Amino acid sequence: MDGKGLAARVRAELAREIEELGRPIGLATVLVGEDPASAVYVKRKREACAEVGIESIHHELGEEASEAELLALVDELNADDRVTGILVQLPLPEQVNEDRVIAAIAPRKDVDGFHPVSAGYLFQGQPTFVAATPSGIMELLRTYEIPLEGAGAVVIGRSNIVGKPMALLLLGANATVTMCHSRTRDLPAVVRQADVVVAAVGRPDTVTKDMVKEGATVIDVGINRVEGKMVGDVSPDVREVAGHLTPVPGGVGPMTIASLLRNTVRAARFQADLLAFPGG
Ligand code: NAP
Repeated sequence: MDGKGLAARVRAELAREIEELGRPIGLATVLVGEDPASAVYVKRKREACAEVGIESIHHELGEEASEAELLALVDELNADDRVTGILVQLPLPEQVNEDRVIAAIAPRKDVDGFHPVSAGYLFQGQPTFVAATPSGIMELLRTYEIPLEGAGAVVIGRSNIVGKPMALLLLGANATVTMCHSRTRDLPAVVRQADVVVAAVGRPDTVTKDMVKEGATVIDVGINRVEGKMVGDVSPDVREVAGHLTPVPGGVGPMTIASLLRNTVRAARFQADLLAFPGG
């Protein structure tokens, strides 16, 4: 499954939509500290913004930044009309409580979908903002017309940002969903039943060829470094049995960024009252 190609199409579509909307849209990115991977992710997000016509409003704080400083910045961004969406890049340094910072973001600007209000609305089946990675995966599944209704889906990993929202979205698409994690007994036996497998663990070779049903769709979310090379959670030989498979890189990653842009446009619609925000 070509995530890179689909993401380019989504960006082109969003660029048109933004032009039609005819109002400035800004995404604030907040980067704290020196984590090189975080710096790369933020850079990619900013470049993608520029490509579609979203203004990138970037803030950097030092590794020593206090929680109070970060909360004050979030407050400022909440109140700033130029800022349509707010993204605080995780992880944050250990002196800062991530949950408190995420909870401080205005729910209407929560384009990452990590705020408890966003998570709650997704849980209730009326999503406001859905986390970009599972959201991008759903778009891939729709585009490739992977049947989900009544299908058996197995999600490996139960993080708040990938595994849990992924399971809820698949449930919403009428799949029969099983969630697996580090304490799952006999993971291979569970995965072998699945028509759709989503691996979001962060461990190479979590899904091997012998675990995959012939013709199944396998989504590889993992990002791992092995001998300087980027690999996913799925063994390369899975392609011999899978009906569809996302590559790493070039699968889920580009779709994650495209979905973040989509969420930012959605935020603009909420703020312009073109779309009703649930609960008023
Ligand atoms: P996370 O918070 O570390 O969660 C990992 C999950 O995997 C946990 O639920 C853990 O179970 C489970 N797990 C660990 N070892 C396992 C095992 N041996 N068998 C089955 N389950 C196991 O990770 P995350 O944030 O969800 O990210 C997962 C991976 O996706 C990482 O490699 C990350 O870099 C990548 N990622 C990629 C993108 C992208 O855009 N491509 C976006 C986000 C994340 P417990 O809950 O029991 O500990």
